[in-house]
Amino acid sequence: MKKAYFDFSSRLQDLQEKSLLRRLREFKPTEGMSALFDGKESIHFSSNDYLGLSRHPMVIEGAVKATKEYGTSCSASRLISGNNPLFSALERTVAQWKGKQKALIFPSGYMAALASVSSLVGKADMILMDSFSHASLWEGARLSHATLRVFDHNEPKNLKKLLERYAGDFKKILIITESLFSMDGDIAPLEEIVELKEHFEAYLLLDDAHAEGILGENGGGLATALDLADKVDVILGTFSKALGSQGGYVAAEQSIIDWMINSAKSFIFTTALSPSCVAAAASALDIIQSKEGAMLRRKLKDNISHFFEENLANSFFCSPIIPIKIGTESKTIEVSAILEQKGIYLPPIRYPTVPRGEARLRISLTAIHRADQIDYLKEALKKLGVL
Ligand code: PMP
Repeated sequence: MKKAYFDFSSRLQDLQEKSLLRRLREFKPTEGMSALFDGKESIHFSSNDYLGLSRHPMVIEGAVKATKEYGTSCSASRLISGNNPLFSALERTVAQWKGKQKALIFPSGYMAALASVSSLVGKADMILMDSFSHASLWEGARLSHATLRVFDHNEPKNLKKLLERYAGDFKKILIITESLFSMDGDIAPLEEIVELKEHFEAYLLLDDAHAEGILGENGGGLATALDLADKVDVILGTFSKALGSQGGYVAAEQSIIDWMINSAKSFIFTTALSPSCVAAAASALDIIQSKEGAMLRRKLKDNISHFFEENLANSFFCSPIIPIKIGTESKTIEVSAILEQKGIYLPPIRYPTVPRGEARLRISLTAIHRADQIDYLKEALKKLGVL
């Protein structure tokens, strides 16, 4: 007989009653931003593939070539025998792209976040983290055993108060923020945070996952776009969004990277990222830094401009992430289901991804959406009274 301990049915029932139960959907891309969701043809507005590179012929070719040359798996961790030459080549390119001395690749951005937070600080230290930071950063903070305090989202004044209060009480203070926030589409006031960091002699970790490929002349993300890369101690990123691949990385000075190689469990005790993913990311990075990359960024801006009916071509920052805040979880599920019937895939974003009662639809536009698809989405949202 099954032990009661393993019976989660009442907890699942509880989630269902709170409109918080999740289930997996089956997704199959068809053409452009069209896809089959559970077999139904829909327009897809929830991808992080902002430049449409996951199906770019050069990116696919890179992955196929690497698979033929190196096989489907590295079959060991990087410190044992998984470290093929694709890694060091991509790490050099990533470091240059991010304006840092060195980079280190991980099997995912999540693992890169766990590694960097937990190896940078420990028991004697303090973390000050933006309240909207990604789950991987919270988890990294927990693993580090540092004292964690949270500052109000994008509020440097609040961060300053905390720095004034705690500076001197801890061995070091690490400030953590995202650059382009994943669920709100707003941007961190990096210049002000850097000023505070310098003044209080703290350290700064920036999760650039959603800004890379998008911000800056060569898509290098927020810190390079503002020419502040040398003031940010550690920059985190992922290959799974604008780079259309999989895997994550940390970019920092040599000693930090060497320390992670020697201390980060999510680096040491896991199989190296597959050759196809490393090669796909390398091809995507070539494109992102080329004229084609600039053209894709322009197309993305055109699509964002089209959505807002405003020419944003010359604005430094415009976000492909557009939250449609609805409020209750049940209402958000209802709106999402109606959209799905109309052939629009926009899943409800709920607690714990966002705070309770702040459920939303998270539109993410890409360079390869068509104007008529965006019009169709807007019309449907307007008819439902949520736009
Ligand atoms: N940071 C942020 C801000 C993210 O949104 C994500 C992915 N949702 C990650 C880190 C983790 O990246 P990955 O998907 O490569 O694990």
